[in-house]
Amino acid sequence: MRPHRAYSPGLSGVLPLREGRHLVEVLRARVGDRFTVFDETREALAEVVDLGPPVRYRILEERIPEREVGVEVVLYMALLKGDKLAEVVRGATELGATRIQPLVTRHSVPKAMGEEKLRRLRAIAVEAAKQSGRLKVPEVLPPIPLGEVPEVVQGLLAHPGAGARVGEVLDPGKPVALAVGPEGGFAEEEVALLEARGFKPVTLGRRILRAETAALALLALATEGR
Ligand code: SAM
Repeated sequence: MRPHRAYSPGLSGVLPLREGRHLVEVLRARVGDRFTVFDETREALAEVVDLGPPVRYRILEERIPEREVGVEVVLYMALLKGDKLAEVVRGATELGATRIQPLVTRHSVPKAMGEEKLRRLRAIAVEAAKQSGRLKVPEVLPPIPLGEVPEVVQGLLAHPGAGARVGEVLDPGKPVALAVGPEGGFAEEEVALLEARGFKPVTLGRRILRAETAALALLALATEGR
């Protein structure tokens, strides 16, 4: 079997059904095959003992990988049209976000998110954590109105035309909150409100990026090399 990482809450010795199905039906696992199991806090080398369902495994050796940025990285992301948030959640997880907080903003076309979509975004975060070797699956929260964004220790607000660059204002030793607007951008009063809560406007270059691209560019700059 090729190398594989499976999410298994509590490293309980039993794989969730979906994970087990993937192991057996796609990867054609056999009893005795080795793979990696992980949850939010631990990772271990494991061996298949029963193909189930459910697949059962035994732990051979625990490992402590370090894949986190080292500080809280919260992404405040405006609700976007269609399935664009899926792309954001996937990339943000790979880039080290610890929490993703969707926002209802003045110019967001969707003004709410259904339970089903939230569940799907959370599943995407689990998949992306697995793929990128992270132990921590970022929280994906239900949307809140932009006015409910709390005061932050350090915040960066992606705003076309802003004077400062990320590297000029970021303190990498502090937790950071990042805010990215919807397709139509933030309204001026929203920019003012976020500034009052501790966010500094930053530019991501001279070109106007799609909101999804902007979120990932901002995250990459804020977590660079970590
Ligand atoms: N006309 C809108 C405006 O001026 O804000 C464009 C919105 S853009 C498609 C969507 C979001 O991506 C923006 O609200 C901003 O957060 C971010 N963004 C896009 N390009 C950017 C850039 N060059 N610098 C900083 N932020 C950018």
